[in-house]
Amino acid sequence: MSHASESLHEGMKKEIKSNQETYKYCFFPDCTNTTCTAPNKVFLNVPRDPAKRQRWFDAVESPGKSAKKSKHCCADHFDLENDLENFSEWRERGAQKKIEKHRAPSQNSQL
Ligand SMILES: [Zn+2]
Repeated sequence: MSHASESLHEGMKKEIKSNQETYKYCFFPDCTNTTCTAPNKVFLNVPRDPAKRQRWFDAVESPGKSAKKSKHCCADHFDLENDLENFSEWRERGAQKKIEKHRAPSQNSQL
């Protein structure tokens, strides 16, 4: 990568940062949703707990397809109304989203 394109990239990142809180993209192997391509999309944090996190990765990975290195998963792979513990709180007051303990993203819901 040349120096010029590198600084262009930095500029783009800064622009994104000023428009959005942070740039997020979906960790799902085939999913192209990002805060740029889908600005109104809800993104959920991939769990930090290793066991839970592994379950999420197991749910999205298939032979030849590994998850992207993102800390976020877009709402396309969830049924927010049912999968969020505090859906109405989040909807009404913008509370931090809490995913039901046993939920993991679904392979099929984006199709
Ligand atoms: Zn996605």
